[in-house]
Amino acid sequence: MTKFELRGVRADVLIGAEEREEILKGVDLTINSGETHAIMGPNGSGKSTLAYAIAGHPKYEITDGEVLLDGENVLEMSVDERARAGLFLAMQYPVEVPGVSMSNFLRSSVTAVRGEAPKLRAFSKELQGAMKGLAIDPVFAARGVNEGFSGGEKKRHEILQLELLKPKVAILDETDSGLDVDALRVVSEGINHAKETHEMGVMLITHYTRILNYVKPDHVHVFSGGRIVESGGPELADSLEAEGYERFVKAGA
Ligand code: ADP
Ligand code: MG
Ligand code: MG
Repeated sequence: MTKFELRGVRADVLIGAEEREEILKGVDLTINSGETHAIMGPNGSGKSTLAYAIAGHPKYEITDGEVLLDGENVLEMSVDERARAGLFLAMQYPVEVPGVSMSNFLRSSVTAVRGEAPKLRAFSKELQGAMKGLAIDPVFAARGVNEGFSGGEKKRHEILQLELLKPKVAILDETDSGLDVDALRVVSEGINHAKETHEMGVMLITHYTRILNYVKPDHVHVFSGGRIVESGGPELADSLEAEGYERFVKAGA
């Protein structure tokens, strides 16, 4: 049983040498193993800032509050240590690494997280199985990381990492953006599979309710003005679909 907790998290974005602006204004959230929490909110409300701040991105500084994974202080960990502790942050992985094949890249990620290199043949088999499950063409294993990948292919790659790294908690920011219906279904099945096989907790950040037809959230949180302004069950997403974010923008401002 894993517990991922945000307690009173405040964070600034560092804009220049002298300039900073507070974006996160006290975020409280607890995600237990196997739970999916959708974080939904208007553009500019600070959703990505939340993901980047937890990932330890250098442009964002957490100024107050705590981030705990099973009671361990995540903010004291290096980015690698966060991954080893079981936190998966899609954006911490490089966008494009020409010259490094997908299979080598994934094997190094797996080695970093598991603490030892998997045997080549066993890993090859594991990778092929995972790619098959995500309907990824086997030739991708030999291609450069994300090199010339379409939006949908990059997202499948993200989910392939999930499948291989088996994180305790995954933070997925706008995983649904730019996906056609077929890609959305495959990516969602990948997320659901990881949830079922190893009780992964998920923070699913999204602007649109579309992905929630495929990945069922247990809890829905409305994010506005840098904090959670309302929490509820899946029905909250339905009312957002019908009414939009307007009343929350007023509440959060
Ligand atoms: P969301 O993901 O909900 O659309 P963001 O976290 O991307 O929101 O942005 C929240 C606010 O922080 C916005 O006003 C945005 O302009 C500002 N912001 C985020 N990152 C930066 C940055 N690197 N430099 C300047 N402003 C930023
Ligand atoms: Mg959440
Ligand atoms: Mg965003």
